[in-house]
Amino acid sequence: MISSPLLARIAAYVEGQWIESDHTSGVVNPATGEHLADVPNLGAAETTRAIEAAERSLENTPSLAERAAWLTAIAGLLAAHKDELGRIITLEQGKPLKEAAAEVEYAAGFFRFFATQLEHLQSRALPAPIKNLRWTIHQRPAGVVGLITPWNFPLAMLAKKMSAAIGAGCASVTKPAGNTPLAAVALWNLLDTLDIPKGRLNLVMGASGPIGDTLCSHPAVRLISFTGSTEIGKVLMANVAPHVKRLALELGGNAPYIVLDDADLTVAADALMANKFRCAGQTCVCANRIYLHQKIERDFLDLVVQRVKKLRVGNGLEPGVDIGPLINREGWDKVQQHVEDAQAQGARVLIGADRQRPNGTWGSFYSPTVLSGTTEPMQVSRDETFGPVIATGTFDDDAEAIRLANSTPYGLAAYLFTKDRSRADRIIERLAFGHVGLNTGQGPTPEAPFGGMKQSGFGREGGVEGLLEFCEPQTVTSAED
Ligand code: NAP
Repeated sequence: MISSPLLARIAAYVEGQWIESDHTSGVVNPATGEHLADVPNLGAAETTRAIEAAERSLENTPSLAERAAWLTAIAGLLAAHKDELGRIITLEQGKPLKEAAAEVEYAAGFFRFFATQLEHLQSRALPAPIKNLRWTIHQRPAGVVGLITPWNFPLAMLAKKMSAAIGAGCASVTKPAGNTPLAAVALWNLLDTLDIPKGRLNLVMGASGPIGDTLCSHPAVRLISFTGSTEIGKVLMANVAPHVKRLALELGGNAPYIVLDDADLTVAADALMANKFRCAGQTCVCANRIYLHQKIERDFLDLVVQRVKKLRVGNGLEPGVDIGPLINREGWDKVQQHVEDAQAQGARVLIGADRQRPNGTWGSFYSPTVLSGTTEPMQVSRDETFGPVIATGTFDDDAEAIRLANSTPYGLAAYLFTKDRSRADRIIERLAFGHVGLNTGQGPTPEAPFGGMKQSGFGREGGVEGLLEFCEPQTVTSAED
């Protein structure tokens, strides 16, 4: 069982009260199979209660200064408890401690950033009368918002949404992923020490179907911000349609990573290692399809294989581990299936593809793997592998690289490596991806908007755009005095 000062209470949180239940779900350490904790398994009734508590809390609108103070206080708590929050993330999610600590810092950055951005919510008047009328635009809070998050970044994905919702003046009901609820529970143990009005920030856990359906159908919920799979994003779109409410969807990706013949190959190889193996390859922005100009294929793959040989797979709590376990056996099976499918269709394994089971029968560890000769029909090309697999294929010219990159229903992140800036500009404007890294594998940052095109979703997190996502503009026109 997990023991942590930040988990003094392991329960849901509604209107300032901790909620327990006779029905519970277990949380398991993916590195060891150890049972870490039991969390309440709640459903529609408790979700309705949380929504109605949130609705009541909206009767008083906090000033911008109050919201900024809450955001700053939360950022401070996250920073102060970075190591312990990181340990909890590693235990329930599996990623190495250094990555988990970086996730906590990243999460704190969203609260810190939005605390400085609230002047964008000031009402503004149009400079001159129109039709002899005065026009003023107000940014109103969207209202009660539902926040649904995935297991790969249990704290950061929540922080992105919650920070913007607080800044915009919304009240929220959060549902974390069933595999990784403890980071959220730890956050609520910290929030409970702050003087934020009861009902503003509620946490429910349990049956995703009934909780999701209640958020979709309850009239008080005006917006659902969801990060997760495209499959569940589509379910939410269908479920909110009869109720005409807004969604912000951060969905799956299938990122292309294009290395042109004039690229700095060392830069491209180093960037790929950092981008691809974060969270054992289970990130929405990590490179999934690596396209190499045929002239540099061999040299680039040599550099990558040299680097992959040095990676250490193991329990994320151990020093020196670079890659932790996959989240569970289903995740492991999917990766293995992708690799076997690629091999069956002619791809070559340059390194990896062997099973790692350091703890006997338990442990969903997968060796970092490099494939060459992957092609469009293979599963590694068509679908997110969500594992530590570098799947590479080749192209002959820029037009083919663009066509291959865009040959997916997803449009989240893409990466391009070239020393020629004007060639890069010509390619990037034709890439249908919301985030493009040029000569870097860097993902999002709190200060800039991030989100997908096509089936990777809509809406943005981070940047001023991420704050306005949680607002409803209201235009007031009035006769001049
Ligand atoms: P998922 O299966 O879609 O689950 C995401 C969340 O939705 C979880 O909290 C899950 O709860 C909940 N959920 C499941 N069914 C639901 C329903 N019917 N109604 C409402 N909520 C429901 O995704 P995941 O496996 O956790 O996360 C991996 C996916 O997230 C990948 O596709 C990845 O690319 C994507 N992702 C995208 C971004 C981005 O920024 N675009 C960032 C991170 C991850 P339970 O866990 O309790 O089932």
